[in-house]
Amino acid sequence: SGSVRALHKDYRTATPQNFSSYESMKQDFKLEIPEYFNFAEDILDQWTNMEKVGKRPSNPAFWWINGNGEEVRWSFEELGSLSRKFANILTEACSLKRGDPVIVILPKIPEWWLANVACLRTGTVLIPGTTQLTQKDILYRLQSSKAKCIITDDILAPAVDAIASKCENLHSKLIVSQKSRQGWGNLKEMMKCASDNHSCVKTKHNEMMAIYFTSGTTGMPKMIGHTHSSFGLGLSVNGRYWLDLTPLDVMWNTSDTGWAKSAWSSVFSPWIQGACVFAHHLPRFEPASILQTLSEFPITVFCSAPTAYRMLVQNNIKSWKFRSLKHCVSAGEPINAEVTEQWRNSTGLDIYEGYGQTETVLICGNFKGMKIKPGSMGKPSPAFDVKILDENGNVLPPGQEGDIGLQVLPNRPCGLFTHYVDDPSKTASTQRGNFYITGDRGYMDEDGYFWFVSRSDDIILSSGYRIGPFEVESALMEHPSVAESAVVSSPDPIRGEVVKAFIVLNADYKSHDQEQLIKEIQEHVKKTTAPYKYPRKVEFIEELPKTISGKIKRNELREKEWKTI
Ligand code: ATP
Ligand code: MG
Repeated sequence: SGSVRALHKDYRTATPQNFSSYESMKQDFKLEIPEYFNFAEDILDQWTNMEKVGKRPSNPAFWWINGNGEEVRWSFEELGSLSRKFANILTEACSLKRGDPVIVILPKIPEWWLANVACLRTGTVLIPGTTQLTQKDILYRLQSSKAKCIITDDILAPAVDAIASKCENLHSKLIVSQKSRQGWGNLKEMMKCASDNHSCVKTKHNEMMAIYFTSGTTGMPKMIGHTHSSFGLGLSVNGRYWLDLTPLDVMWNTSDTGWAKSAWSSVFSPWIQGACVFAHHLPRFEPASILQTLSEFPITVFCSAPTAYRMLVQNNIKSWKFRSLKHCVSAGEPINAEVTEQWRNSTGLDIYEGYGQTETVLICGNFKGMKIKPGSMGKPSPAFDVKILDENGNVLPPGQEGDIGLQVLPNRPCGLFTHYVDDPSKTASTQRGNFYITGDRGYMDEDGYFWFVSRSDDIILSSGYRIGPFEVESALMEHPSVAESAVVSSPDPIRGEVVKAFIVLNADYKSHDQEQLIKEIQEHVKKTTAPYKYPRKVEFIEELPKTISGKIKRNELREKEWKTI
């Protein structure tokens, strides 16, 4: 439409932060943590004030679309007023008190964002869950979190009703639906008559704000506690430095509402910067609709997972024109250099990789103005002192592989979780000396860039060599037949373990002679990386096992390999 086109022009003139170097960016970083902090009042309502006096451009605060041509645009003022109504529903109709846990399992609908802000305003503890959870998962989450309230939609309400009697703490249920349901408050109806007069709870900076579940790549998802300042202030490092956001930007992050990644890139980081949060309620991940959206809407900053980029580059991206797009980032898994190169060739844009966990804000990142070394996660974010450690907690010199750790003593940095909820021994096991141990392995090069090697559990030990799967997967990726792969250890009578590759072939290679293809692929890996890393075993499969968030579950493949002996 005409108005959208006009915005494209506006947004192109947005001025980025423009730090001339990594050092100047680090110098710019300053976090003052007040005793009381609440993101809704101290950040969102401040943007509303800026909006009112014309100090913020007329960029929406929230811009939502779905596949059926529906659209929602809110200013910060509208977001404020609607979230206050929602807050009154939580405290009055649901009689929730400060500190009460609230599970929110909603798809990417505007009410999900309102629920986030309403929980902030009332000081209730938000626990987001993905809509792909089963009845059993929901029971696990309701029980382990002792949630007092659940907010969900028509699709999952029956599953909740089936198990609600086993959850003694659960006393109120809200449904987002056009229809009413017995035993549930209908949010849309209640919003119609709720007052938008609400005063935000004065939360302490170190009071619990939310509990996020990890992705469950290596086992049962863990519950991670974050305080009001941890994400509410800590994520400014993501928004300001990694995402490079300003009030003129429109940020689109494609991750599911159930993961901390949505808190990172669809809530806190953009709103801290006064940018617009863009959301597309896509029923499924379809490369064509992603590309269509990037070209139709004035999205300036795009964030997705490596698995999504791998799918996108298999399309003819050059045939699309992204008029506003200026910054692309990826996180959640390592991204293969091959994929970033293909993306750059067809869009002219680099992918700025970031590394972090549900437990943290950004740990390492590639930042604007910094030279990108393909395959590296960049340099430490200003929030953390990141070190490579040996098993005794000693800092290792550049070039040596070890555990990636964050310094937590004498001062625990803002942006780090408080603890694994209800799991003190797990919490204790991640501390080594003055450091928090991430569970990931990597090394730092002479220039201070960090390189991801592997999750500690995924390392393959073959004939005395330590091999990280990602490097082998990246070498495989360069072969034209390989769409995706997962590399794991497999038992071997002589070597103990050998490298095994599970490969998903590109469509045009499926009919090739498989024995011949295996030899070719093996030769290719021997040439592109150290020969001892080549996969001695290769198996072609249709699909890799992945988490709901799209991460490769190497542990499932590994367990199958070892079960057969
Ligand atoms: P679980 O802890 O339940 O097994 P998970 O670790 O996948 O699941 P998340 O907190 O969502 O849960 O993911 C964080 C992990 O993702 C990191 O510890 C790291 O292993 C991986 N990761 C994230 N970003 C990157 C990156 N840029 N490069 C390599 N790995 C990454
Ligand atoms: Mg983890």
